[in-house]
Amino acid sequence: MIPLLEVDALQVVYPGPRDLWGRSRNTVNAVNGVSLTVAPGEALGLVGESGCGKTTLGRAILRLVEASSGRVLFQGEDWLQLSPSELRGRRRHAQMIFQDPNSSLNPRLTVGASLGEALEIHHLANGRAGRLARIRELLAWVGLPEGSEKRYPHEFSGGQRQRIGIARALAVEPKLIVCDEPVSALDVSVQAQIVNLLQELQGARRLAYLFISHDLAVVEHLCARIAVMYLGRLVEVGPARDVCRTPAHPYTQALVSAVPQLHSDGVPRIQLRGDPPSPVTPPSGCPFHPRCPVAEARCRTERPLLRVIGQDRQVACHLAV
Ligand code: SF4
Repeated sequence: MIPLLEVDALQVVYPGPRDLWGRSRNTVNAVNGVSLTVAPGEALGLVGESGCGKTTLGRAILRLVEASSGRVLFQGEDWLQLSPSELRGRRRHAQMIFQDPNSSLNPRLTVGASLGEALEIHHLANGRAGRLARIRELLAWVGLPEGSEKRYPHEFSGGQRQRIGIARALAVEPKLIVCDEPVSALDVSVQAQIVNLLQELQGARRLAYLFISHDLAVVEHLCARIAVMYLGRLVEVGPARDVCRTPAHPYTQALVSAVPQLHSDGVPRIQLRGDPPSPVTPPSGCPFHPRCPVAEARCRTERPLLRVIGQDRQVACHLAV
């Protein structure tokens, strides 16, 4: 199947910390040569500890931050080569849902006005009556009560505000939604409702998701495939069930073993040592070697490349088979 989204060797480099004179001598590779694909209607989970670069990757795909090199092919067209006006015309095809829904909602606008604004910009509804009908339809899709369009964001609970954020993303009929930790700020019971809503919408609208989360259990529930990120690079990619039940990379094993719902007797229990290293001065060889319980001498000098180890599975570890 032709991918909806194809990311090829994407790199995002930031200037490193500045000295007293405001000079920056180092650079930070926030995203370091990441390649991945998302098929139409597919949910790909992107997991890793905070600071691993997953949010930057999601934002770089949508050009909310600028990539330094690589390609982002959306339906075959490289979005990194588009001019600002060309990009504005394409934006509705790929939307973002944020951890804090308030970032996409204007507190001074009613929910109806916020949604109507998106419809108007992209000419997606005819006249006032058509716009109101569409707004009511969107709010019903995401399970908000009648009359919600007349209320302001602060009148809703956190879970309801996230539903409004989803409605706003859906308003422009996207093909892909980048979901950046969309449930991590919500209560556990509300998290399940939002995840189920995203799952229903995916089936009903053939939406593709890049679902960014640190919660492997949620990602396994929602996504067909999982990509695991460490220090700006992908270290394992594969079908969600395989990655969670038989993780091949020691880092994935550690993430899985920290989730009681996921780890089984077949998965070795691994406790991660220390914090992730600084991306300003990444370790030589395998970037995971200072924390890896099975590291060998060559891990300190040779960087393992992402390689195929089974059907649809790729792992960046010298020892993975
Ligand atoms: Fe551990 Fe070596 Fe594999 Fe890196 S390459 S994950 S250090 S065993």
